[in-house]
Amino acid sequence: MQARENCIFCRIVAGTARSHPVWDDGETLAFMDLNPLAEGHVLVIPKPHWENLFETPAPALGAVMDTAKRMAHAIRATIAPPGLGVYQVNGRAAGQTVFHYHVHLIPRHDGISLELHGRRRADRADLERVAVRLRAALVPPG
Ligand code: 5GP
Ligand code: ZN
Repeated sequence: MQARENCIFCRIVAGTARSHPVWDDGETLAFMDLNPLAEGHVLVIPKPHWENLFETPAPALGAVMDTAKRMAHAIRATIAPPGLGVYQVNGRAAGQTVFHYHVHLIPRHDGISLELHGRRRADRADLERVAVRLRAALVPPG
């Protein structure tokens, strides 16, 4: 994938924008988030430019997750937070602001839930109806 001149993460990969790298290999880069939510907030990216989860090939996602795990161990060995969040969003509606695929590792101390689930249990018939539609739409991850 071609580096994008107007993509801040591509410029970090190219070395034309300043960053504070922690890990750099052939496929991935881990560096400090410039606006950390907590001390030790790290981002992991594939070096090539892919916008989001949909565009990023599965092997590159695997390489990013390998690096994320490496970073998780380093964060635990240094910052030692009681919790660690691993977050990734796709699209403006989900809060994405930099359109080069990335995973956040965020030390968590606060015990606050990020509303990853609702407050009411769903109707099982409704769950099954959606599961049926999803099963019918499955394709190889690629
Ligand atoms: P998103 O909301 O897209 O998941 O997160 C983008 C992240 O990139 C934000 O946490 C933001 O602080 C970080 N960020 C934006 N610009 C820069 C930059 O120039 N350098 C670094 N290191 N992080 C950045
Ligand atoms: Zn990019």
